[in-house]
Amino acid sequence: MFRKISLGSKSFWIRYCCNDTRVRFAPSPTGYLHLGGLRTALYNFLFSKSKNGTFILRIEDTDQTRLVKGATEQLIKDISWAGIQIHEGPHIGGNYGPYIQSERLDLYGQQVDTLLKNGTAYYCFCTERRLDLLRREAVKNREVPKYDNKCRHLTHDQISKNLAEGNKYCIRFKLSSDVSSYDDLVYGKITYDVSLNEGDPVIIKSDGYPTYHFANVVDDHFMKISHVLRGLEWQISTTKHIQMYRAFGWEPPKFGHLPLLLNSDGTKLSKRQNDIKISHFRENGIFPLALLNYVVDAGGGFEKDLLQNVKLRIYTADELASQFDVTKLSTHSGRLMTEKLLGFNQAELKRLLANEYEEKELLKEMQSLLKKHFEKLHFNADLQLEEKHIRSVLHWSSNRIKKLSDLLTNDMAFLWTLPKSVTLKQNDIDVTEELLRKLEHKGDFEREELSKFLKDFANKQNIKYNMFMKTLRSILSGLKEGPSIAEMMEILGKDSTLKRLRTSLNMAKDAVSS
Ligand code: GLU
Repeated sequence: MFRKISLGSKSFWIRYCCNDTRVRFAPSPTGYLHLGGLRTALYNFLFSKSKNGTFILRIEDTDQTRLVKGATEQLIKDISWAGIQIHEGPHIGGNYGPYIQSERLDLYGQQVDTLLKNGTAYYCFCTERRLDLLRREAVKNREVPKYDNKCRHLTHDQISKNLAEGNKYCIRFKLSSDVSSYDDLVYGKITYDVSLNEGDPVIIKSDGYPTYHFANVVDDHFMKISHVLRGLEWQISTTKHIQMYRAFGWEPPKFGHLPLLLNSDGTKLSKRQNDIKISHFRENGIFPLALLNYVVDAGGGFEKDLLQNVKLRIYTADELASQFDVTKLSTHSGRLMTEKLLGFNQAELKRLLANEYEEKELLKEMQSLLKKHFEKLHFNADLQLEEKHIRSVLHWSSNRIKKLSDLLTNDMAFLWTLPKSVTLKQNDIDVTEELLRKLEHKGDFEREELSKFLKDFANKQNIKYNMFMKTLRSILSGLKEGPSIAEMMEILGKDSTLKRLRTSLNMAKDAVSS
């Protein structure tokens, strides 16, 4: 299949999938996307990319009581921000839609009829009260509560009578102990007889909505999903799902379960909800690819040396996909190394600066960050925000900062503010003019060298060094504090330093003559 993409003013047609590998990410819109969900989406994406397949987003909203307004839009925003390309989904369509389960109710209704007809599903008229009694009884006897499958044995007449009387019902699936093993792509052979621990599961609820298990199986089949990669918490349901495929006479997809993802101290991710929201990382200046590398670093799926590099480096989605191997996924829980995140971010900053196209985008991003920042501060002095200047600052700072916002702190303000109108005595004007002449002929603007140079200069001019530095500080930045003058000059670079000196001199001369 082909898709048109636009890069700047140009657009291209790209072939984005060409085989039968189809995977999906199937979140429920019950909240925000967090690192665990991002990991599942990412591994599905890498898997499809490595096989030139298709990555689908399906929204599983059958539990209408847990829906959160706006969650689907936010999920799509977060996934797209992370650089994970969705080939088919609710916002872009595709040949196997709709991609939101609540819009597929007719299909579930038709499909459950097949199971009712072939005897693998049945009507259940048990009341809430009866089910509750069963649960209490089990708890009292220290047994695992499970449905006793009573309605399996209703006769045709009993069913018709109940239906005619309008009694509330749900539809259950008949579990058997036949299919209890499958080959997990990550964990190998998994054997689990679900019927030992569960009663027959509900597949259509009394409100007419399907349960997760049923809708998930029906959709994976009709959306032609070839591989299911999902969190380990779903492994216990897989033999049940395989039984449903068999009941329909369908070939199940291949299943692989992803190990748990934990905080670096081994605690569950959900314990610190706010820190794991994707929007939290975005709002805090983490680059998408830095976040992906951070997640991959915890989860495995690659040759060991790829990730165990002493110096953190960033792998692009293409590089990750070309080396991703689902069989290399670890079966142990992965730990997110919080302390590495900023290191990845710095590595990504350097990578972006090294690439002409990405550097341009980065400069624009920094420019807009700065504009917003100073607007918020109601800062009304002149600002130096042209791309050339931002570029030189970023290149200078890439070994020192971890994120763009590090350049928005007060002690970095001198970088962006131009001197306000300065009043200089005639003597200061003369000395500064001399300094400007000397600097114009200077090659490298390097801190230590500049520091020596400024001391020599003050000596030769027979002026007080400290006083002169104070004057230079206000000439260069209009501020009273900041790093040493030599360091400021190095960071600003030759062009900006000279420009600021000239501007101040002109303003001061105007003030003297008027
Ligand atoms: N809706 C399920 C979830 O929120 C999907 C599980 C699956 O991938 O089968 O995790």
